[in-house]
Amino acid sequence: MSGIGKGITTASLAMLLKKMGYTVTIVKIDPYLNKDAGTMNPYMHGEVFVTDDGGETDLDLGHYERFLGINLSKENNITTGKIYGSVIEKERKGVFLGQTVQIIPHITNEIKDQLKDISKKYSSDVTFVEIGGTVGDIESLPFLEAARQMSIDLGKENVVYIHIAYIPLLPNTGELKTKPLQHSVNELRRIGIQPDMIFGRSTVPINEEIKSKISLFTNVPMNGVISTHDVDIIYEVPIMLKKEGADKYIVQKLGLNYREYSLDDW
Ligand code: ADP
Repeated sequence: MSGIGKGITTASLAMLLKKMGYTVTIVKIDPYLNKDAGTMNPYMHGEVFVTDDGGETDLDLGHYERFLGINLSKENNITTGKIYGSVIEKERKGVFLGQTVQIIPHITNEIKDQLKDISKKYSSDVTFVEIGGTVGDIESLPFLEAARQMSIDLGKENVVYIHIAYIPLLPNTGELKTKPLQHSVNELRRIGIQPDMIFGRSTVPINEEIKSKISLFTNVPMNGVISTHDVDIIYEVPIMLKKEGADKYIVQKLGLNYREYSLDDW
């Protein structure tokens, strides 16, 4: 769900891989119909982050730039409005002559093409794609379908699916509840995505017992279940993820070498 910390977590994980010496970039997908964030009420949506090339983008791009120390461009923010705009423009130009233009494959192909173009532009070893919104929303379905297809296009070994989910702490019993997570993972599986990693967002650290329960229900090995609990300042999130072994797990999943690095200068 929005506000859970997907942006900070994505930026942190990308930063750890950058520290390892890999070239990374991040794309934010916003499933709304606006072409960009420029006309949206900042009280509802948060700051509009303006990129160097004048793009009026989602505030998460600000997190990405600050964590990675790089400048991104307007292409790093994809919205439903942008994707549909581009497909409709191509349709008018006759690019799809003779075809019935549909969500699958035309919209999903456009999403995948834009993601591949960005990876090429930045020559990235790893491209992180943050899909905003909530699993099960109508708006995000074409993006999740494109994400599913990515593992067919690129090979399973080249794609890692990370699910970030809220694990509420019941104040009356002091218990961490994994039920909402079990349901969102079921919903992801229904649309053909088996997460490779689970990031549990909670107010308190997720202990080994809860991790083992999550592992059992989600079919994700224990070391792929990462505690992403609340910290005092967001710049501690990369340190927490490194301690949890998220960096080791993701490079191993992608068949990349783990390279030692330090966060002392972070
Ligand atoms: P999303 O991308 O899911 O909408 P964000 O990454 O923008 O969420 O995070 C929402 C807010 O939560 C941010 O302002 C950030 O300060 C805070 N936040 C995110 N992760 C953590 C964390 N682990 N501990 C404390 N605060 C966090």
